[in-house]
Amino acid sequence: KEGGAVVLTLGVLHGDGIGYEIVESAKAIASAAALHAGVAVQWKTLQMGEEAIKQFGTSMPDETIAHLSELEGWLMGPHDSLSYPAELKELRNPSGELRHHFDLYANIRPIQSSPFVRGMIDKADLVIYRENTEGFYVDRNMFQGVGEMMVTPDVALTTGVFTRKAIERIAHAAFQKAQRRRKKVTIVHKANVIKLGSGFFLSLCREVGKQYPDVKVDDYHIDAMCAHLVRRMPDFDVIVTENMFGDILSDLAGELVGSLGLASSINASASKVMAQAAHGSAPDIAGKGIANPIGMIESTALLFEWLGEKQKDHGLQLLASIIRESVTATLKKGIATPDLGGQATTNEFTDHVINLMTEGK
Ligand code: ATP
Ligand code: MG
Repeated sequence: KEGGAVVLTLGVLHGDGIGYEIVESAKAIASAAALHAGVAVQWKTLQMGEEAIKQFGTSMPDETIAHLSELEGWLMGPHDSLSYPAELKELRNPSGELRHHFDLYANIRPIQSSPFVRGMIDKADLVIYRENTEGFYVDRNMFQGVGEMMVTPDVALTTGVFTRKAIERIAHAAFQKAQRRRKKVTIVHKANVIKLGSGFFLSLCREVGKQYPDVKVDDYHIDAMCAHLVRRMPDFDVIVTENMFGDILSDLAGELVGSLGLASSINASASKVMAQAAHGSAPDIAGKGIANPIGMIESTALLFEWLGEKQKDHGLQLLASIIRESVTATLKKGIATPDLGGQATTNEFTDHVINLMTEGK
């Protein structure tokens, strides 16, 4: 507490490539919006990625994890794990490490068309709830080391893991979100072929759905879902699916409404939230000052919205909407980075967003 007001402390992990540029942009915009919303936010910078390797010899130091355990939320920049020294490549990647350590089981990705961004589909407004801890992206250390193995030098075996605990909690999160939206959940699976694993996912999601009688439920096989998404994306509201299917669907959906640079996400447990843009570290444009910060900015807005819903705190929700509205108003003025066909640098875009808040538009 500071002068009676609660101060929210958020972690900041810049990461690699364009990470520093986009995370600083999101931080500056969030700080400005916090002033307008009357919320006190402070930042705690922590090491991750190449910086951390230089200092600690690992891309995700224990010191960072220890600090994060004290915090409710943090901004996570992208990392370029492929560029790490060979002896470190075997390690889990930094965000995988955090998802695992803090059991951030829900990867939540909203996908929305914008009238100011040219995409292949307009009027789409959906959110993907991707199970983030198991399924076909099973961790090597789960289940006595059986994630993947070479059965013989000529045969690789990859397993999938589906547990009641993980399926039920992602299903509840998805149905609860649907109740606050258009009240529709689509379950995506492949139960006709992967009868046990995907069948279990489907039947448990349907079972959980019965506790939310006001929410309509339907389901599709992952392959058919790709076609439906392209053909009638605006019909979908909340999609719930396992890890790998969710990964693939969110890239497809993100691209259908615009650029990769716009895609936002949070990873959440019951008590912690990590904001992370959906794109990578973009080493090809790193340091040029032209990265699109919107994915990181919108992820930060999602983080505040998530905390606001959890704490029933109107100020945090206001903070999230100030961020979003100012980004939209900036795009509306035709100010955008080169990936969207504009000429603004990352800093110019950021300054415009902040100025719009101060001017009250
Ligand atoms: P990763 O494995 O880390 O996800 P990736 O191979 O998917 O990496 P990205 O780093 O996401 O690749 O980049 C893919 C392409 O999109 C690159 O050409 C990159 O410059 C571009 N890109 C990604 N993010 C942005 C951004 N925020 N602004 C502008 N361009 C971007
Ligand atoms: Mg990628």
